[in-house]
Amino acid sequence: MRILVLNAGSSSLKFHLFEDEALLQRGEIERVSNMSDALAAAFLQLGDSPVDAVGHRIVHGGDRLFESTILTDDVIREIESVSALAPLHNPVNLEAWRAARARLPGVPHVAVFDTAFHHTLPPHAYVYGLPCEYLTEKRIRRYGFHGISHRYVSCRFAELQDKASAGLRLIICHLGNGCSVSAVSGGHSIDTSMGLTPLEGLIMGTRTGDIDAGAVLHLINNEKQDPAALAKTFNYESGLRGLSGVSSDMRDILAAAAAGDARAHLAVDAFCYRVRKYIGAYLAALNGADALIFTAGIGENSAEIRARICDGLDQLGIAIDSEANQSPRREDRQIGFSRTSVWVVATNEELLIARDTRRCILKS
Ligand code: ADP
Repeated sequence: MRILVLNAGSSSLKFHLFEDEALLQRGEIERVSNMSDALAAAFLQLGDSPVDAVGHRIVHGGDRLFESTILTDDVIREIESVSALAPLHNPVNLEAWRAARARLPGVPHVAVFDTAFHHTLPPHAYVYGLPCEYLTEKRIRRYGFHGISHRYVSCRFAELQDKASAGLRLIICHLGNGCSVSAVSGGHSIDTSMGLTPLEGLIMGTRTGDIDAGAVLHLINNEKQDPAALAKTFNYESGLRGLSGVSSDMRDILAAAAAGDARAHLAVDAFCYRVRKYIGAYLAALNGADALIFTAGIGENSAEIRARICDGLDQLGIAIDSEANQSPRREDRQIGFSRTSVWVVATNEELLIARDTRRCILKS
């Protein structure tokens, strides 16, 4: 079965064509002004390749869509009803679906949700300390994101261990432009650092991560900042970019820090410290972990950041082997041989979307 996987972002469209598990073709259309044009450009590259089904990455599925599913009118309505919680993502995901459906009306389209893997969070992990009606009436709770990546990595790790995921307790650090950590027990996510929206948790490329709600109120009430302008600041001008004043790209920041730039240095320190705090929290949530796993652009490629995150965790049973950490080998590998082992596992969200799409179609 040939499956086209679409991952639409605010300014790009990534596409991957699979024949079952095999990747046949991939590409990215950048600086897109609308998804119809982006898809037309993708199809120019794909040529006449037949497509049997399309798998779409949908960022927010809310609390009712927690399994990959064929996109029907009901499903679309549900996705629209939670789109306000992921305004940078869900609307473009749906725009890509509309454009793809117009081009490929005769094939099934499947939604794979980035929130779904975290559906197993227990209530004590997903509630905020707000009056209960905020949860029951407004659905204000933690949902978590990057679930496609966390799920892929958790399955892949079990496969590498030649074990079912049943007994494994994992802490997975997805460090890319967006960053999140998850605590996974027996293949189920029991906590994760992103919340109602992808703004919570770690310091990211351009996003704040955790911030005191009181700071937001202060900026609105006393500094008279406009909420829309604040949303832009929190999503696009904060995190590594805002702290460093250099870039949102970790490579540029590490280079600036090495050249003596104090703000870049602070950005790296704050980034690593925040990840370390979450690792400590999830060691507590899991009562110890079998493995700490790094994935995504920074997690897979930066030995320096991995080393700095793990520095000073030896009393918690986590230590990196510096030779293994710095090895230029690209494959999934162990880099720490401590009580909690440390690993680098490359994520592959598109493969998981292709697998789920195929499974949904075979099931229907
Ligand atoms: P996305 O979340 O957009 O999929 P990626 O997972 O590709 O992003 O991660 C992008 C991040 O990975 C950028 O901050 C980039 O600087 C970082 N990155 C990629 N390669 C390296 C490297 N060798 N060293 C440090 N950071 C890297």
